[in-house]
Amino acid sequence: MHPYLRATFWISLYLLLVQAPLFVLLLGPKPAGSGFWFDLSLALGFAATTMMAIMFLLTARFQRATAPFGIDLVYYFHRLTAIGAFAFATLHPLLLFREEPALLGVMRAGTLPLHLWTGLVAWMALAALMTSSLWRQQLCIHYDAWRVAHLLLALTALLFGTAHIVEVGHYTTGPWKTGLWLAIALSCLAVAVRVRLVKPLQLLRRPWRVIRVIEERGSAWTLVLRPEGHGGFRFLPGQFAWLTLRSSPFAMREHPFSISSSAAVPREIAFTIKELGNFTRRIGEIQVGERAWLDGPYGTFSIDISRAPGYIFVAGGVGIAPIMSMLRTLAERDDGRPLLLFYAYHTWERTTFREELEALRERLDLNIVYVLSEPPTDWTGERGLLREEIFARDLPADRAERECFICGPTLMITVAEQALARQGIPPTHIHSEIFDLV
Ligand SMILES: Cc1cc2nc3c(=O)[nH]c(=O)nc-3n(C[C@H](O)[C@H](O)[C@H](O)COP(=O)(O)OP(=O)(O)OC[C@H]3O[C@@H](n4cnc5c(N)ncnc54)[C@H](O)[C@@H]3O)c2cc1C
Repeated sequence: MHPYLRATFWISLYLLLVQAPLFVLLLGPKPAGSGFWFDLSLALGFAATTMMAIMFLLTARFQRATAPFGIDLVYYFHRLTAIGAFAFATLHPLLLFREEPALLGVMRAGTLPLHLWTGLVAWMALAALMTSSLWRQQLCIHYDAWRVAHLLLALTALLFGTAHIVEVGHYTTGPWKTGLWLAIALSCLAVAVRVRLVKPLQLLRRPWRVIRVIEERGSAWTLVLRPEGHGGFRFLPGQFAWLTLRSSPFAMREHPFSISSSAAVPREIAFTIKELGNFTRRIGEIQVGERAWLDGPYGTFSIDISRAPGYIFVAGGVGIAPIMSMLRTLAERDDGRPLLLFYAYHTWERTTFREELEALRERLDLNIVYVLSEPPTDWTGERGLLREEIFARDLPADRAERECFICGPTLMITVAEQALARQGIPPTHIHSEIFDLV
């Protein structure tokens, strides 16, 4: 299916799902209409609750649910729809106050009946969720603490929101209408239990062992893992997995990393991790023999999903990791298709995998354009930051037929996406992997 058609299909399905409970509520006996604004206010409240429920399902790491889009797109969509749901949940009481100013009086008097309390708690949980997510770094909230709080606040918003709907009882009288909202809330609770209890339990039964720790150029480390007592998993080159080290899978301390090894050798899985923050800075301390847990594979950033007569890769820094997996896999498969890699780094000394990339040129039809922002004095290659004029100089004539994979710092991804599109690569052939989910 053409990508634009596919996007239209999924967006229409989403809108249909958000509205479906509203149509169900209109079936059978319903309260006498209280005017357009009153009914719109209720519809916004119902829609906000359904949108929250869909967010639970989409971010619950069901491989099949995220497979058509890629996890980065799912999280981007999650962010956008969360803002939409919060706007709806805020407009819901504002419109009600406009229609029934007496309600404001009740709020001011501080004598809230239970059905309004539940609504208020749901809205406050949503507000805290939005604030802590949009401004997490500015508020100096540690990522691990944020993740736990995110789940608890989301559950609070959804459960209190559902209680509010059921207690108010407008349009939801009758056991099957009430049952519908209870079923929605309970399925979200079940999803949370699956992700935080059932899944970790499954991971616990399938441990991995660190068999090599390799120091790479550019403050990066490669960890090679082997499954212990089970068959591991097969993955597509370019996919990623959630890695837990030195804590239990129940602790919500897993981090996403692209698999950097060849998909043709799935018994050993390697991750190449750059020293960056609290967790990654200590990767070099990991000892051979330590246990690890892997939840994966995830993602659609793969040559095996986007097939083409040739490929263009753009890597910045440790963004080379998923691209190494694709290049190594292509080499194992003796693939003869033409490949072009633009690889941006600060210095030649720190350019991760530079020796292996040179060796891969011998096994593949691979052309590499290194772009160094701090090149040595005798450097004859590209200098400065990756920019359009470099692409214009080196892109091949058959560029429009090739699929293009970009991975690196967010700013580099944006620049590369725009430049490649201007240079004649169809936007539907451009795939990016963003390492920063929140
Ligand atoms: C799909 C994907 C693939 C990735 N592949 C690689 C890779 O191959 N090599 C590599 O070096 N890095 C990769 N990353 C980035 C890596 O996950 C983060 O750099 C790492 O989790 C940061 O953890 P930290 O505690 O060291 O850093 P911190 O300084 O604590 O965090 C830095 C930033 O990393 C993000 N982050 C922190 N913890 C998590 C977490 N548990 N889950 C998700 N994001 C988190 C947050 O945005 C945070 O602001 C990938 C990220 C994603 C989303």
